[in-house]
Amino acid sequence: MKERQVEALVLKKEPFQEADLLVTLLSREGELLRVLAKGARRPKSSLLAAVQPFVGGRYLLWPSRSLPGIRQARAEKSRSSLRLQPLPMAVASYGVEATLAFSVEGSPSPELYRLLESFLDLTEAHREAPFPEWEVFLLAFEDALLTATGYGPGLEECPACGKPLSGDSYRFRPLEGAVFHEGCSRGEGLSLAGEALGALRLLAKPRSLPMAFRVQLSPRAREEAGRVLEAHLLGILGKPLKSRRALYLWKGGEAHGSRVGHL
Ligand SMILES: [Zn+2]
Repeated sequence: MKERQVEALVLKKEPFQEADLLVTLLSREGELLRVLAKGARRPKSSLLAAVQPFVGGRYLLWPSRSLPGIRQARAEKSRSSLRLQPLPMAVASYGVEATLAFSVEGSPSPELYRLLESFLDLTEAHREAPFPEWEVFLLAFEDALLTATGYGPGLEECPACGKPLSGDSYRFRPLEGAVFHEGCSRGEGLSLAGEALGALRLLAKPRSLPMAFRVQLSPRAREEAGRVLEAHLLGILGKPLKSRRALYLWKGGEAHGSRVGHL
């Protein structure tokens, strides 16, 4: 085994032993790596800046069968505002938690890396945005993440009658993970109208993420699309993502700050 250089995003850091950090990286190739940053909790550590959550950097890893370590690290994108401002930090933390939930160790996905990198860049660029704009951005991220990992909700054909979804009244049934015509749904599932279905279709493409801040959606469509994705995520993961709940507290205005609670 020899040293290895990786370009990666820092997803997580946890204290380890006296002065070390255990760091979870997502490499550009989409591989999850758990690595040791020795002495990184000492104030003068040369590794400290490069092992903060949301940083994108280059890491030289020394080989080890159990736990590889970081020999050298260089932060290329520090994304420091994501660690300073509460709402962007909550958004970025959610992106990381969701990415981790959909990452499978030993099964790299470069698409996940690209999606998270773009998500973090856009979160930083729009850090002053009001909550309704974040809401569409989060819908777009969830929709793209599900699609990229092969779990996208069924949005084209009604599973009951096999015909394309058309009209203006539908239901999403979490068990099937798909949208049905209202008349084919036997009244089960979450109702949604054409606007929400159209938004879910548009935002499912990972390349739609950058335009999410410009997509205009009515409060009703945001609500419906949000509930569909929430139910679908819950159906797949079997439990809610903690940081998603924390994030949506902003919507109710329960967190402090003047920009929240406009819905
Ligand atoms: Zn049908």
